[in-house]
Parts: sequence; C-alpha cells; structure tokens
Amino acid sequence: MAVLANRLSALATENAFKLGEDIQRCLDRGLDVIRFNLGAPDFRSAPHLNKIAIGELEAGNSGYCDPAGVASFREAIAAHVRNTREIEMSADRIVVTAGAKPPIGYTFQAYVDPGDEVVYPSPGFPIYESWVTFLGATPVPLQLEEEAGFAFTAEDLARTVTERTKLVIICSPSNPTGGVLEPDELAGIAEVIRTRCHPDVRVYSDEIYEHILFEGAEHHSIASEPGLPERTVIASGHSKGFAMTGWRLGWAALPTVEEASVFKQLNINTISCVPPFLQEGGRAAYEDPRTAVAVNEMVSAFERRRDWVVPALNAIDGIGCQNPKGAFYVFPNVAGICERLGVIAAYEGLATESRARTTPAGMLQMFLLYRYGIATMDRASFGRIGSSGQHFLRLSIANSMEEIQRGVGLLADASVDAEGFARFVDEEGLWA
Ligand code: PLP
Repeated sequence: MAVLANRLSALATENAFKLGEDIQRCLDRGLDVIRFNLGAPDFRSAPHLNKIAIGELEAGNSGYCDPAGVASFREAIAAHVRNTREIEMSADRIVVTAGAKPPIGYTFQAYVDPGDEVVYPSPGFPIYESWVTFLGATPVPLQLEEEAGFAFTAEDLARTVTERTKLVIICSPSNPTGGVLEPDELAGIAEVIRTRCHPDVRVYSDEIYEHILFEGAEHHSIASEPGLPERTVIASGHSKGFAMTGWRLGWAALPTVEEASVFKQLNINTISCVPPFLQEGGRAAYEDPRTAVAVNEMVSAFERRRDWVVPALNAIDGIGCQNPKGAFYVFPNVAGICERLGVIAAYEGLATESRARTTPAGMLQMFLLYRYGIATMDRASFGRIGSSGQHFLRLSIANSMEEIQRGVGLLADASVDAEGFARFVDEEGLWA
C-alpha cells in the first residue's frame, strides 16, 4: 500500500509556478532575479472594475450564487461571443469558471475516456498534456514548427487525426510561441475536423489571449467556421487580456445546453461557484467602454517591448527568435548557445536518470537563473512528449522595458560564459 494514489505519477504540472522554489533559493542567496517566467501581465486590473467588485462586496453580495455563473455575467459573455465570433450563443451555454484553466480539466473529464486520442499543440500550455496522461488518454502532440511561425496547417492536422481521435485542442494566440492561426489556416483546419472527425469529436479552442494581438490584428476563432459551433468548446477569461490573473475569472461556451450542464455539475463538484462579487466586476469588463482603453494601452506596451526584444535577441550569436503575433511571450531557439556553452555535451554526460529529469534547455534555464538571475522557461515545460532535441526558452515580456533590457544584456553575457556553465554544473550538483 502507498499513501498516494498510483494515478498521481501521471499528473504533470505548470513549471512556471514550480520554478518559484528555485527563484526563492536564488533570492535567499541575495541574487536579484528578473522574472521572465510567469505569464501574468505586469498591469493591474482596471480601477473601474475594482470599484464594482468592492462595492458589491460591501453591499453584501458575498454568498453562494448559481454554479453556472451569475445570469447577467453569462449574458454579457454570450453577447461578447456573438459579437466577436459572429455565431449564435445563448447564456445557457455559458459556464463561468475559476479562471481559464478549469475548463481544460472539465473538457477532459466530460469528453475523454482512457485510450482516446487527444491531439494538442506542442509546444503548448502544459496543462493539456498533463490531463492527457493523468486520464490515461493517448497523447498525440502536434509539433509546431519554428519555420512555419509555430502555426500548423490542415495537412499537419490531417496526418494526426484517426478514428480514435476524441478531442483536438487549439490555442491561438499561442502560449508559449505567440503564434496566431490566420483565417485561411483556421478554415483549412475546420475542413479537416468536418470531413475527417466523427461529429462527437470536440475541439477545445483556448482563446485566453484573444485580446492580445499585435499590429491591430483581429481575433479569429475556429468556432466561426461553418459546422464548428456545434463541435467547439470556446474557453477564455479575464486573466490575460484584462490583467486580472488573481481574480480567477474564466468561462467556457459550450456547443449545447446539455454539455453546459455537465460543466456546471463539475463546478458543483469542485468549487460550487465563482464569487458573485467578482463576476459583477467581470461583467463590467465587457460592458464598460473604459475597459477597451485599458486593454489597448497594455497591448501597445507589449507590442513596443516585442519590437525591442526580438531584434535584440536575434543580435545575440546563437539565438534565433521569431516575431510573435500575439500574447506576451517570445520563444527563442537557443540551440546555438547550448552548443557553444557545452550544455548539450554536459547533458549527454549525465546519468540516464538525471537526463530524464532535465533537457539541455532546462540546464541552460537553471544556469541563467542561478548564475545570472534571469528566470525563463524551457521547451519541455510546454509539453515533454516528442520534444527531445528542441532547444528553446520562453521569456514573458510582461515585464518593464528596463527589466527586459537588463535581462537581455545578462543573457548576452551568459551566452559566452562556457567556463561559468562548466563551474555551475560542478558546483550546484543539480543533476548529480
Ligand atoms: N490557457 C492558456 C493557453 C494559458 O496560457 C493560461 C495561463 O497561463 C491558461 C489557459 C489559464 O488561465 P487562467 O490563469 O485564467 O486560469
């Protein structure tokens, strides 16, 4: 007998949170750490929204509410979906969740049985792969290629779907790559879903970065394609676009009322409901025109930083960085640095057990953190299966321009410090 259930060995995590322990160790040693690891806007929730939530709380709106979400908030979300996706949507197909993460798990619990195949982007948000393995489903990572701007084509998808496919996950704009699926790409992908997948197959369209697009681009959803509204779970929320990560406000728009009632039941089985006073603030995010002004300001700041950081990274020998079209991440290829610093050779020299616990980009990530005080994320943190031989880091640009400039300067110094890397491996014994 063991204390913990066997299935826990198949549950993964989101390393962006887990890295906190290493960051704390560095801070305790007196190192100043630049946090490029977390996907949280460095902006605050807008004052007009804060005021509403505080007012509601003071007025006594502090009890339980409908587990599916406050009716007026669900109406506002349904209107937002109708207006931005140009599809039918009613409030009884909306379920409010505690952030945009729970609908991922709800989707797996609602639609996926052990052995079912799940197609998901890799690199992609790590919680997708975590649920695939946790439920004993069959992972089918759809590898996003750097040369294709980290998008994937209808042909790529057609190669991965089979009659055992039950769920296809799409995320645009993407974490971690910032890639955006263009309307013609979405149309091709939709055609594959319509013609090659059973009508019971569901598409999970993670649109949490829908508000963060550069060069004035508009958001496009797979759910707007013919035949797709009845197969797609759209998920989004307030964390990223409205800088409200701590509010834990998210939602799912389901293909049918029956499927929405399953999501509601999953809320009942876990959180009961999302705090109603927060939902009132969340409703105003869609209804008050001041929100759009705040969003524009933030997105313009992200775009200015992107425009500085991509050329600056590309100027470092050994780095190749694509220009993200949305979200607030850059995802540079650091294979050249790994080679120059001897990271790949050091990785290959590790014992088999140690190699299983890291990757070359993971070793570089730790070197950057422990010796240069730059917290980044490695490629394997965005889907491990099938990622070997890919050497990337993700840097969040939700950080001030000064910090970004200082961080990139440190990264340039680290990129030629082969001696420092060799000493680091000996001294820290992280992979002994
Ligand atoms: N989906 C993607 C692609 C994300 O990047 C994140 C957060 O990083 C989430 C979902 C979860 O968002 P939330 O913080 O609202 O739960």
